Amino acid sequence: MIYNKEIETLPLKELRELQNKRLATMLNRIYTKVPFYKNKFDELGINPGDIKGVQDLHLLPFTKKTDLRDNYPFGLFTCDVTKLNRIHCSSGTTGKPTVVGYTKNDLDVFDEVIARSLACAGATPEMRLHNAYGYGLFTGGLGMHSGATKLGMTVIPVSGGMTDRQLQLLEDFQSEVICCTPSYAQTIANECEKRGIDTSRFNLKYAILGAEPWTDAIRKEIEQKLNVKATNIYGLSEIIGPGVSQEDFEEQGTGSYIWEDHFFPEIVDKDTGEPLPYGEEGVLVLTTLTKEAFPVLRYWTNDICSLSYDHSIKRTHVKMSPIKGRSDDMLIIRGVNLFHTQVEDVITNIKELSPNYQLIVSKHNAMDIVEVKVEVVDNALINNEDLIKKFSKK
Ligand code: ADP
Repeated sequence: MIYNKEIETLPLKELRELQNKRLATMLNRIYTKVPFYKNKFDELGINPGDIKGVQDLHLLPFTKKTDLRDNYPFGLFTCDVTKLNRIHCSSGTTGKPTVVGYTKNDLDVFDEVIARSLACAGATPEMRLHNAYGYGLFTGGLGMHSGATKLGMTVIPVSGGMTDRQLQLLEDFQSEVICCTPSYAQTIANECEKRGIDTSRFNLKYAILGAEPWTDAIRKEIEQKLNVKATNIYGLSEIIGPGVSQEDFEEQGTGSYIWEDHFFPEIVDKDTGEPLPYGEEGVLVLTTLTKEAFPVLRYWTNDICSLSYDHSIKRTHVKMSPIKGRSDDMLIIRGVNLFHTQVEDVITNIKELSPNYQLIVSKHNAMDIVEVKVEVVDNALINNEDLIKKFSKK
């Protein structure tokens, strides 16, 4: 099901026109209402009117997480706090959280993109959503909840943790859709296995997983153990929360549709900040086009991925690849770049190992050393030197 057919299948030319119109309004708003942005524009000698469309965005400066910290808590908001309907937080770069605010219209946009995402993942209004994202200051729980309500689903607000209760409710309430982090889906799946619970007693059909990077191997494991089709949802609080992009349940493995009428994506070189063409990997930079309380210009997400229209089948919007890592937590080990997802890929493809692992980086005589600690599925392996050697080599 396509939730908003008109917008989700809008011809690209019209989509660009809509984006350009919305961008002009957004730029005026931040220039006139947020001194931080006005100063940045003035320093560069640029007027909002100089930007003729999304193709000119590269002329404008990035916004980074440190800018949010420096303007804590409400310095980048375009309206008075009394005009807000909700405030959320996520982890900041220091002790202070990143604060984000929403007007009534912003919450409507949030609901809209979540409703689209749920439908894109296979959910329909008749289904029940077992929402195991954490409720509270994080955007995940309430965001999914409210968007699912808009779609017309029945929401079970379980929140995270208390796995016993999760298993019980999955069986008793027969929810068709579950949303949570991929690692929590693995926990649920493994707990079922440990207790000998036959997951066909559940009625799950779809799992919507996000908030952390995951691999195809993890997808396969979850799909097989929970009898679901698992799709990726991506987002970040600074832009809106989850629902910036979503993978279609019938187009798995080809990337996630970015809801481009609300969030304009760019990929830039992580060192120079220069825009990169479609297909090339770099830092995802997002500009909100419709947010009122807390619009963000060229937000540097630190997430590494690529963009492409090549696999946009049911919809016209651009797709982003899975996140390959973070530009800020990439490890450089003796000159070699290392993403933890690369290690994860190896580990999850060894059936004798559980998907849980630790990367421990230390220095030995000024040389970086990475120790990978893994869990074996069967204790007998601990004494099998040949296998240990083989895994270490991989
Ligand atoms: P969340 O609760 O989703 O972690 P935050 O705003 O605290 O929200 O963190 C956002 C960050 O989480 C993103 O910038 C990205 O690094 C990571 N993230 C969210 N969803 C995904 C996803 N589907 N795949 C990979 N990383 C993700």
